Amino acid sequence: MKKLFNRFVFLASSILFSGCGAAILPEEYVASQGHNAFRQMKKQEKVSTNPKHNAMVKRIAKRVAEVSDIELPKTEWEFVVFENKAVNAFALPGGKVGVYTGLINLVDSDDELAAVIGHEIAHVACRHGNKRLSQGIGIALGGVLLENSMRDKDRSDRQAARLGYGLGSQLLLALPYGRKQETEADERGLMYAALAGYDPRAAVTFWKKMDKRSKVKPPEFLSTHPSPENRIAFLESKMDQAMRIYRQSKEARGESP
Ligand SMILES: [Zn+2]
Repeated sequence: MKKLFNRFVFLASSILFSGCGAAILPEEYVASQGHNAFRQMKKQEKVSTNPKHNAMVKRIAKRVAEVSDIELPKTEWEFVVFENKAVNAFALPGGKVGVYTGLINLVDSDDELAAVIGHEIAHVACRHGNKRLSQGIGIALGGVLLENSMRDKDRSDRQAARLGYGLGSQLLLALPYGRKQETEADERGLMYAALAGYDPRAAVTFWKKMDKRSKVKPPEFLSTHPSPENRIAFLESKMDQAMRIYRQSKEARGESP
């Protein structure tokens, strides 16, 4: 069964996911900056010890990461719950994902949290942090590093290292993802959740709740994101495909959808 399932995941992901554009900086450097930034966050913010919240995030993250790691074999996944009322989640390069308790309190099922975790894992899978950091560093250094990094990978490694410990990780924490990256993460995240056997329709119910909430209070959940209305319409346009994957995944797992 496991073998059959792996084969199904492999086939599905090779059809579904045909890359999301080239990354520019050396991936090792970007991952190390992601790790640094995450370490910083864990020192500054309160890490949750709530056993229920932690178990929920770990259980879902494991399943969703499993269907994505075909593309990211070297990722050291780490999922941390932060004790914070903000309705927020974030992903850093190298597989570091944070989920705030405010968001966990808003979800009503594993399926809904899988939609969020799928989205965050998709940011990692698409190397969006690399693109974001490339841009940030490009601006910071007037494009010198960027230019050299495209010419000579080894040299760019050394230069990136010279940039020091702090800059990259600070940029990662400060820069939001662009709209295109958000849409990419929405689509891919939806498929990841479905592939992991979570009902993709939960992405819509989750965003409807976010929409309701945003009418009272602007959403903290990555404030440059597309509006919930646009997001829901986009997710619904991909739902037939996601539901097919979901049903096939359930079947391959020997479960009924
Ligand atoms: Zn996002």
